[in-house]
Amino acid sequence: MQFEVFTLLPEVFPSYLETSIIKRARERGLIDVNVHNIRDYTHDKHHTTDDTPYGGGGGMVMKPEPVFEAVETVLGMKPPFDYSLEEHSASAQGEAPLSPPEPESNIPIILLTPQGRVFNQTIAQELSQHPRIALICGRYEGIDERIREHLVTDEISIGDFVLTGGELPALILIDAIARLLPDVLGDPTGAEDDSHAMGLLEYPHYTRPPEFRGWKAPDVLLSGDHGKIEKWRREQALERTFRKRPDMLEKVELSKEDKKFLEKIRNS
Ligand code: SAM
Repeated sequence: MQFEVFTLLPEVFPSYLETSIIKRARERGLIDVNVHNIRDYTHDKHHTTDDTPYGGGGGMVMKPEPVFEAVETVLGMKPPFDYSLEEHSASAQGEAPLSPPEPESNIPIILLTPQGRVFNQTIAQELSQHPRIALICGRYEGIDERIREHLVTDEISIGDFVLTGGELPALILIDAIARLLPDVLGDPTGAEDDSHAMGLLEYPHYTRPPEFRGWKAPDVLLSGDHGKIEKWRREQALERTFRKRPDMLEKVELSKEDKKFLEKIRNS
């Protein structure tokens, strides 16, 4: 799967992308992350990417021209449209205005924004089905609204808080999506039981030693009885979800046994 990231701060990305599972996935060709500097798509002497907001107020706004040009060029949305040369544009010469190119295919062009739909495991699953996605990272006060209206096909937030830029949100999407792709995790079933994958929080984990400072790992996990372990894990997942995120239980499909177990803990 290919990620095309558009940012004013490409230097933020390498340290994370060159670490651990994501690094190995890239080396094995399972994912490809191309980080594009929006500044490379400016044409003025100062490589201007932002300007003051119309109507006044504080902060700066990311200009539309370099963002459009970066995304259109990288995604091959032809014809290249030089938004920087207004004086040479068709409308400036009295001709009918050129319209921006249509997106060439169904590559999602995602704007990271606190105003987007809130990212979750279902959205990660949905995006993992695409062979290629584009991620646009905002900075300053955000982007010129015309980028959102005419270029972007989806808007994603990583939560109800405001960060200084879209770079961390982009890395979060890349990480969450990559681990869902075949062969990225060492254990092929590794993501299946993860919290949220099946609509429940995951059961607790223990490892050696069997007893630490007098606190024992549950006997059932050391029993070797896979049937019992399965049952214990399911019940733990149900109980944790019930106690920490009861809202999740309203959306998940529950078996008769699950419902019986939940009834028992509700009445205990
Ligand atoms: N003024 C904007 C607003 O109130 O909606 C916030 C701009 S924020 C300071 C700068 C950039 O950080 C945004 O354009 C976006 O790309 C990114 N960003 C901030 N918080 C985010 C969040 N919760 N999820 C995704 N992206 C976020």
